[in-house]
Amino acid sequence: MQSFEGKVAVVTGGGRGIGGAIARAFADRGARVAVVSRSESSCGATAEAINADHPEAAKAYAVDVADHEAVQALGKQVIEDFGGVNVLVNNAGVTRDGLLMRMKEEDWMTVLDTNLKGAFNTVKAFMRPLMKAEDPRIVNIASVIGLIGNAGQANYAASKAGLIGFTKSVARELAGKKVTCNAIAPGFITTDMTDVLPEKVREDVLAKIPLGDFGTVDDIADAVVYLSGPQGRYITGQVLAVDGGMTM
Ligand code: NDP
Repeated sequence: MQSFEGKVAVVTGGGRGIGGAIARAFADRGARVAVVSRSESSCGATAEAINADHPEAAKAYAVDVADHEAVQALGKQVIEDFGGVNVLVNNAGVTRDGLLMRMKEEDWMTVLDTNLKGAFNTVKAFMRPLMKAEDPRIVNIASVIGLIGNAGQANYAASKAGLIGFTKSVARELAGKKVTCNAIAPGFITTDMTDVLPEKVREDVLAKIPLGDFGTVDDIADAVVYLSGPQGRYITGQVLAVDGGMTM
């Protein structure tokens, strides 16, 4: 098991689903974790559950990642609370699905502002402390939809494809400081985000997964941990699809 003893991880969207599992995975390996989500109740619940097993390992921050000023303030607060940061995981994300014909401007903006601008905001907030940290890592949670597109998800696909381009540019800009930046492209992972999809959609997706199963939040957390530890030191600017073979 990779140890994150003495390290600090910031996980956005850490209140539920994939982000909750990522926050927990870091804490189980010795890290202290800043759990960020939109609502106090969800990041608070994750932090409380982590602290029950690892006293004072986690702190909750209710911040909208789309709000530039609020995220810069978050950066200052986390550094004040933890003294530094080693790993930033941009996982907060939303969907507002609909065919382009019916998609409202608001649906486009909400998804782009959260999924793409959110990552810009956090990287801006944490890049300086990361550049001074030991084993500094950024992991962006993209999606297979950012690689292959999807009818009804033009906003989401654009945000995730943008996040991949952002990942590669950040990787190039920060390589001189040994900060790695990679993206993970999850396939279909069982969470609140996918639970709302109709049974027919789920069946259709399942038929396209060579390994014949949906992914779990721990499948993604394990990949994040791998890229974030010392073993990930020579991997940067990559997109790792964790998708049961969906996009091979
Ligand atoms: P969930 O909907 O289960 O959880 C999303 C998390 O993001 C919540 O904690 C939510 O906060 C937080 N969040 C949403 N908007 C904001 C915001 N503006 N500011 C701060 N936090 C916010 O999603 P998943 O766990 O399923 O997805 C996590 C990531 O993985 C997303 O980026 C998603 O696009 C990506 N992904 C998921 C896949 C899947 O199959 N599930 C597949 C491919 C990619 P709160 O709890 O307060 O509402």
